[in-house]
Amino acid sequence: MTFSGTNVLVTGSSRGIGAEIAKVLAGYGLKVWINYRSGAAAADAVQAEIEAAGGQAAVIGFDVSDEAAFVDAVKTVVDADGGLSYLVNNAGITNDKLALRMKGDDFMSVIEANLKSAFIGCRESMKVMRKKKFGSIVNIASIVGETGNAGQTNYAASKGGVIAMSKSFALEAASSGIRYNTVTPGFIATDMTDELNDEVKEAFVSKIPMGRFGNAAEVAEATAFLLSDAASYITGETLRVNGGMYM
Ligand code: NAP
Repeated sequence: MTFSGTNVLVTGSSRGIGAEIAKVLAGYGLKVWINYRSGAAAADAVQAEIEAAGGQAAVIGFDVSDEAAFVDAVKTVVDADGGLSYLVNNAGITNDKLALRMKGDDFMSVIEANLKSAFIGCRESMKVMRKKKFGSIVNIASIVGETGNAGQTNYAASKGGVIAMSKSFALEAASSGIRYNTVTPGFIATDMTDELNDEVKEAFVSKIPMGRFGNAAEVAEATAFLLSDAASYITGETLRVNGGMYM
């Protein structure tokens, strides 16, 4: 795959899917900005791994749900590199509870972390990228945003919102040469799914036609494709990476 751009900001890339996206994109020759909220050491370790493999990386810590901090971070990247070619809005959280027990704050905390943050990233990158009439954004949503999930009304709403929001950004930015797409992973082996007990994991696996959880590298390669020149005529699309669990 080839990339006409030069750099990328990957939110939540100190661990899990984001860390793998960072490593894969660095392997394709992009300078990667690794973002974390609290795990500075983990972010440094991802940077060290990329540099040891001959890639370029920088670490930038900020909370994606803090609008001013996200705006500042994009400015920092642009000041350092002269622009921003790509953004992956990957940072996300869960706060699972059955709806009857879910407080308004439980609902909104996930909306702020997953949906508002992606909105800020999409908006700020459009401001920067339209100057060069080039850019590509991938938002990491979830199969749960397409199907719903018991115990995850907040998470499902945030991820369904990301899918619809991406299409709206795609419409507003297409004439500026900027593409917005979404990846919807199914169940992927990371810290997030490690929290599930074995019984729940087995129940999910039994519903996955490919018979296993996905791995972060499989999401990373799909993300890289959508950012790359190979996807130059693809915008507003949702790419499912779920082992056939939802088609
Ligand atoms: P993870 O292992 O829990 O890692 C989450 C990452 O996001 C960490 O680097 C964390 O950094 C960062 N983060 C969380 N909140 C943040 C915030 N407010 N500001 C900045 N960084 C923040 O999660 P994952 O499983 O890799 O998931 C990554 C994305 O894929 C999420 O959007 C998730 O919803 C989505 N997804 C995951 C799965 C799955 O099965 N794993 C399935 C579908 C979709 P710190 O450690 O510093 O907090």
